[in-house]
Amino acid sequence: CYILAIETSCDETAVAVVKDGHEVLSNMISSQIETHKAFGGVVPEVASRKHVESITLMIEEAVTASGIPMKDLSAIAVTQGPGLVGALLVGVVAAKSLSVALSKPLIGTHHIAGHIYANRLVGDIKYPCMALVVSGGHTELVYMKQEGHFEVIGQTRDDAVGEAYDKVARSIGFPYPGGPHVDRAAMESDESIDLPRAWLEAGSYDFSFSGLKSAVLNVINQRKMRGETPIIGAIARGFQESVVEVLVTKAILAVKAYGVKQLLLCGGVAANRGLRTELQRKCAKEGIDLSIPPFEYCTDNAAMIGAAAYIKWREQYFTPLDMKADPQLPLEEWGSNNID
Ligand code: ATP
Ligand code: MG
Ligand code: FE
Repeated sequence: CYILAIETSCDETAVAVVKDGHEVLSNMISSQIETHKAFGGVVPEVASRKHVESITLMIEEAVTASGIPMKDLSAIAVTQGPGLVGALLVGVVAAKSLSVALSKPLIGTHHIAGHIYANRLVGDIKYPCMALVVSGGHTELVYMKQEGHFEVIGQTRDDAVGEAYDKVARSIGFPYPGGPHVDRAAMESDESIDLPRAWLEAGSYDFSFSGLKSAVLNVINQRKMRGETPIIGAIARGFQESVVEVLVTKAILAVKAYGVKQLLLCGGVAANRGLRTELQRKCAKEGIDLSIPPFEYCTDNAAMIGAAAYIKWREQYFTPLDMKADPQLPLEEWGSNNID
């Protein structure tokens, strides 16, 4: 089975060809980061226009690089949501057109299911499993009792972790997207400032990062008022330590409470070295089987969409052509036809 997958939910135009849900034959990404940098974040209208400009060429390149002729593709998968509606639409329209032109089934795919199934690109997933999703718009613990079945057991009540990284980064003067800069500064700093941890009520798998973000802003403002320069490294490290401790602790509690066979880390913030290292250390100590995708499959890409779409292909569950891009598409609902 050869799935052509398209991802345009945010600021990456990405197209891939994936064989049998796990073998990446081609994986093309055109990032708009340089365009959006000038604005300090993603500008939705600009993102849509850029997707329109590059989507056709990206599809051609991904198909050519895969070595699979168009006519031999099995299905066309596309991110249906969540994401920016105007950005999603470009991918959805392209996928529908290809689906009609080539007479191939369409598979509307969930972006976060894609992030989770990025783990399938590196090995088999052992069910039941728990996924820790850490991205620009999501921070969730997802329990999966079987393939394609999702139960969100905890989520952020305010900022997503990637969003908090980007806001803190901006406040200490790093360019967009700031996550990788904060990561580097944290790793290089010998000093760390003490910042709060948001545990919420006992037993809750929810997260909250806005208090931590405010605490960072307070430290910076207090230093400014005293005429001192911000201690960038110590702030970055203190922030990262707080984030990592909460994420790792809650993920491990969830793994134990649900008795799962494997923990999957995914989403753009899964590229964070501090988080990867600490999660690896704790899981090794606790005897937990941990899966982390390589860096290129953590941030947005289309190979992960091909991997998630494959769970629908296996059921021969296709999406009608009148499907609409859905900026709020719920994960549990998208997976629901995979329940026994
Ligand atoms: P979502 O997947 O929730 O719709 P998104 O697609 O915009 O959101 P991703 O592309 O999955 O998000 O991840 C982007 C986020 O990951 C950004 O917030 C970015 O700062 C963050 N990020 C990337 N690398 C790192 C890193 N090394 N450390 C911390 N954060 C990082
Ligand atoms: Mg992105
Ligand atoms: Fe994403």
